[in-house]
Formats: sequence, structure tokens, C-alpha cells
Amino acid sequence: MLDELKSLLPLQEIDKQIFEIKSLIDEIPPKIENIEKLIVEKRNEISALSKEYEKLALQHKEKEMEMGKCEDTLNSLQARLYQVKTNKEYSALQEEIEGMKLKISSLEDEILALLDELDAAREKKEQLRMDIEREISDLEKSRGELIAEQERLEKEIGSLKEKRQDIAAAVPQDILSIYERILEHRGGTALCKVTSKGVCTGCYLSLPPQVVNELMLGNKIIYCEGCGSILYYAEE
Ligand SMILES: [Zn+2]
Repeated sequence: MLDELKSLLPLQEIDKQIFEIKSLIDEIPPKIENIEKLIVEKRNEISALSKEYEKLALQHKEKEMEMGKCEDTLNSLQARLYQVKTNKEYSALQEEIEGMKLKISSLEDEILALLDELDAAREKKEQLRMDIEREISDLEKSRGELIAEQERLEKEIGSLKEKRQDIAAAVPQDILSIYERILEHRGGTALCKVTSKGVCTGCYLSLPPQVVNELMLGNKIIYCEGCGSILYYAEE
């Protein structure tokens, strides 16, 4: 094998790791974003539940007030019974009183039904709120784990890059720049082994015997016609 290529082998090994870790890191932010979106949705669910409950509570309050007014009206109607002078007035007033009593009774029914609804809504709200809070705390935990994982991977890349500097220093500059150009272009693989059957392990192209012979001689850098990577041949 060409000596220059020998110095690229450990570099390719470390670059492969760096690219793999980079792609793992790239996957993390969208995951975090997704979790944060879910947390916002969950919080909205909680406030929607509270609003629903408050709406019912307001309805209940309004009915109570309406009933209070009706009771006042009933009281004053009943007080007027003693002041009327004619039978006709009396029976008209009686009719009005009965009507008001009916109204109060139906308001009472409505209020009782609303109270039941309020109880059920309160229970449902509390239950769901607890469920949602639990879901949120699970989501926050996952988010924290992802952030920790991201930090860990970034540290790992940092130390790999330090190691890489020493390894890269051993590679002739011209070869290094060719290698790095291919590395970026091919997403982490610039150096590909050729199998004993003459196949490029980067793109699985069968190389012409002439190319394999040249590789075995190891006199010059040979690129794969299929994927453009730098080829090397090593005995298996
Ligand atoms: Zn290839």
C-alpha cells in the first residue's frame, strides 16, 4: 500500500466516528423541538379544561343570582296580596305568584343539575390535570435526557477532534486536503477498501483488474470510478 495512504487509515477511522456522532447530534434538536411542542399542547389542554370548568361555574353563579331576584320578586308579590282590594286583582296576583314559584322551582332544578355537572367537571378536570402533569413531567425528563446526551456527544466529538489533530499531522498536506474534500463530499468516508475480489466497499463497484493490479502495486493514488473515494487494497 502507498505509504501516504497508510497514514490516512487511522484518520479515516476517527473521522468516521466523528461523522457518526455528528449525525447523532443532528437528530437531537428536532426531537427536543418536538417534545417542547408537545409540552405546550399539554399545557393548553390544562388551561382549556380550566376554562370549561369556569364557564360552568359562571353559569351556576348566574342562575343563583337569577333565583335570588325571583325570590325577591316573589316576596314583594306575596306582600302585595294584603294590599289588593278586589278579587280580580287578588286572583291575578295569585296567578303571578304561582308563575313565579314555578319559575323558581325550575331554576332550582337547573341549579341542582349544574351543581352535579360542576362536581363531575371538577373531578374530571383534576384527574386529567394530574394525568397531563405526569405526561409533562415525563416529557421534561426526556428533554433533559436528550440535552445531556447532546452534551455528552459534543464532548466526545471534542476529544476525538483533539486526537484527530495529532493523527492528521502525520498525513502529507496535499493528500490531506484531497482526503478532506472527499470526506466532506461523501459524508464521512473518503477512503475505501477494495476486497480481494476487486470490489469497492464504498459503492460495491467491481473494479477492472487493471485498477486492482495498480492498487496492489501501490505506486499512486487511485480513485474509485463509482463513488470517487480513495481506494486502498489490503490483504485479508
Ligand atoms: Zn466506490
